[in-house]
Amino acid sequence: MVSEKLTYRFSECDASMKDLLGGKGAGLGEMSKIGLPVPPGFVIPTSACLTYLKKDKWPDDLWTAVKNQIEWLGNQINRKFGDLQNPLLLSVRSGAKVSMPGMMDTILNLGINDEIVLAISKQTNNERFALDSYRRFIQKFAEIVLDVAAEPFENILEQYKLKHNLKTDQEFSPELLKKIIHDFKEITFKKSGKRIPEDPFDQLYQSIEAVFRSWNNSRAVFYRNYHEIPHSMGTAVNIMTMVYGNMGEDSGTGVLFTRNPATGEKAIFGEYLTNAQGEDVVAGIRTPQNMNMLSKTSPDLHEKIVGVANLLENHYKDVQDVEFTVERGILYMLQTRSAKRNATAAIKIAVDMVKEKLIDKAEALQRVPANELTQLFVAKFSEKSLKKAAEEERIIAKGFAASPGAATGIVTFEADEAVKLAEKGKKVILVRPETNPDDVHGILNSVGILTSRGGVTSHAAVVTRGLGKPCIVGCESIKIDLKKKNFIGNNKVINEGDRLSINGTTGEVIIGEMETQEPLLDDLKETNELLQWADETRKLEVWANADTEEDSKRAIEMGAEGIGLCRTEHMFLGPERVPLVQELFFNAQKAHEWYANSKQNKNQDIPNEVNKFENALKQLEKLQVNDFISILSVMENKPVVIRLLDAPLHEFLPNERELLEKIYNNDDTAKEEEILKRLTDLKESNPMLGHRGCRVGITYPKIYEMQVRAITTAACVVEKEGKIAKPEIMIPLVAHFNELKILRERLLPIGTTFIKQANSKIKLLFGTMIEVPRAALTAKNIAEYADFFSFGTNDLTQTTFGFSRDDAEGKFLNYYLENEVLETNPFGTLDQNGVGQLIEFAVKNGQKTNSKIELGICGEHGGEEKSITFCHNIGLNYVSCSPFRVPVARLAAAQAVLTNSNK
Ligand code: PEP
Ligand code: MG
Repeated sequence: MVSEKLTYRFSECDASMKDLLGGKGAGLGEMSKIGLPVPPGFVIPTSACLTYLKKDKWPDDLWTAVKNQIEWLGNQINRKFGDLQNPLLLSVRSGAKVSMPGMMDTILNLGINDEIVLAISKQTNNERFALDSYRRFIQKFAEIVLDVAAEPFENILEQYKLKHNLKTDQEFSPELLKKIIHDFKEITFKKSGKRIPEDPFDQLYQSIEAVFRSWNNSRAVFYRNYHEIPHSMGTAVNIMTMVYGNMGEDSGTGVLFTRNPATGEKAIFGEYLTNAQGEDVVAGIRTPQNMNMLSKTSPDLHEKIVGVANLLENHYKDVQDVEFTVERGILYMLQTRSAKRNATAAIKIAVDMVKEKLIDKAEALQRVPANELTQLFVAKFSEKSLKKAAEEERIIAKGFAASPGAATGIVTFEADEAVKLAEKGKKVILVRPETNPDDVHGILNSVGILTSRGGVTSHAAVVTRGLGKPCIVGCESIKIDLKKKNFIGNNKVINEGDRLSINGTTGEVIIGEMETQEPLLDDLKETNELLQWADETRKLEVWANADTEEDSKRAIEMGAEGIGLCRTEHMFLGPERVPLVQELFFNAQKAHEWYANSKQNKNQDIPNEVNKFENALKQLEKLQVNDFISILSVMENKPVVIRLLDAPLHEFLPNERELLEKIYNNDDTAKEEEILKRLTDLKESNPMLGHRGCRVGITYPKIYEMQVRAITTAACVVEKEGKIAKPEIMIPLVAHFNELKILRERLLPIGTTFIKQANSKIKLLFGTMIEVPRAALTAKNIAEYADFFSFGTNDLTQTTFGFSRDDAEGKFLNYYLENEVLETNPFGTLDQNGVGQLIEFAVKNGQKTNSKIELGICGEHGGEEKSITFCHNIGLNYVSCSPFRVPVARLAAAQAVLTNSNK
């Protein structure tokens, strides 16, 4: 094994070394390699960070290696670190393998002190620049190394601006900057009890440690948890010679994307700030100038930047997010990385790049994170409500459309408050002057973000685009008052708690609620194209979970090839049905006792309960026939797996508490008391493990018999209309083969006899869900009675872990995730090691008995990309998921083929 080095010069790095050097280090190395102007520098690898975090000490000899590299760096540009004649200043920047925009720390202008600032001032003949660099250093060092908040520094800057009637930081005179530096030092001491070290090497040592530590700062941890990024990677530290965008009007700094990361449009999308340093752009402190403006003000520079951007895109064959600085007219590249983009942009870019012959279709299919396809169906405001809002003059401001989509929610100004409200189930619009990475928890918990400052490359914009959340930035016409907790837009005051709508696609800020609508897949041209390529590639079929005509239509629109789960209990809901269902269940026990003793009862009058039960059953049958006709017609010639009643009975019954209140508050309560008694009879301690699923079907046979009659009646009607109906009957919650055997022997003949009598060609399949461990373990026996297995991984996860699926998240699962007891939520991503093993076992053993058994999954995992890969690998025939996730599944199934072998 090649032994790992302590540090790597950029010339020793390249794009393949991301794991070790982080994305930034690898990108800087690759850029130097292809001859782009990168300031000299070196990288401390991620492994050093991990050692430091684990052992709380530097790896042996790292500091010596760093000092040697610093000397080498100085030699490259004829400067010396800490020198009083010709000083070298450094930038020290974090950079993990996976981009985490703004979550970790970076310190610029390092190596400056009271004496060196004078030397820089003299040498550059630019006192303002020297002092500006110094005040920037003090603030960042204090914030990052000494843990002082940003706010007191921002307040000082604000106060000086107010007092001297200045608009921007660049207008500070050298005299004012000296005062600011003095105040910055004092506030640092006051807040931290520490002074900024004068010795540049002390500054460097402490800054490197702070960057290491920033891997575990709360916002980085939060971000990683949210995006399921492993905590075990660590950050690299990139140390390079400073180049200065704050040297005057011929200097500046910028960030650009080689294509538009919000729409995918092929055009440079970026921003530039004159006389500034990089943090000013990304932190959204000042609203920068659009790159198109630069083409007018400095056409040569613009051309040069665009040339480099295009070169980088061609080199990487992917959209790049590029940071650069211009120092006195000379361009320096500071970063290139694959650009974060939303799903719309990712798809357009991938499809366009195939047409431009930059990449092939297989590559394009892998460029789009499948789970993110759900973002495509982000809401838009309806035309009607937009028109109304315009008429009522409720559109009060327009900012930069940073991340598309439309959202309505209540206004809050604090990230912590956004989290609290979201926990209470409220939809929140977070309004801030600018966002900084400390707000990330607020961003994640809001439905939309609005900032008055900052540009489309600010952190707020980048983070929200990654999340597919609507965001408006740089909306300078609104005036936010954080103390009063309100903002003013177009002379209207919007207070905390008021309802606000934002349109991240147009940048419009609208008072009040708006009606939203979701786009159709047909409207999304490139998505359709990409999904067709996916269909040509995938082996898994994609079915949908749908239990209404409308859902079934949606499923077809989204490309579903069948229905993998029609939950019939959903058909038992609705105001005209619930009373019937209650009647059914209240009388079921008595009715079935009566049927069981039918011989002895022969000459007796039919009891009232039995009549009520039968009457309810008859009416429900009629309703169900119509339900099934509509679904089977829509799904013409496609399989429809209909699951017989599953939910625990109490879910359909009146609320016990409300009944008790009625009894307590009223006089004539005989009826309520009777209902309460029945309710008490049906009450269970553990309803999810109780009288539900096939257990109801077995104990109260008439209910499933009615459902089978309804299904076959409907199928025959559909067939008579000239369509092919393909119903499949599915039994839920089977644990023992006898359960399935009894039901198959009882129910299948009802269906087949009916079909025969109707002279129909319908082929009725009969199968089961596998959703408890015992069913998986005895799949070999169960398969004797099943034409198909459908893995109900919601219940299978619940019963394998012993976690209540209704309560776990709210009680302890979030703690487990935050504290890494579990890596992912097993109800969201299939637990391959546990639940997955059971599925694999059931597949293998089921096939031993019935080699033709049809195999699918219909739990929520059927629409999640990692779980879909697993389903592909174990050879299932289809995945079934909610209609909105069908596109995700189509793409994920294709990606599974491209990246995994079918075992
Ligand atoms: C399951 O348990 O995975 C399933 C699909 O059934 P339900 O969610 O209706 O219990
Ligand atoms: Mg289930």
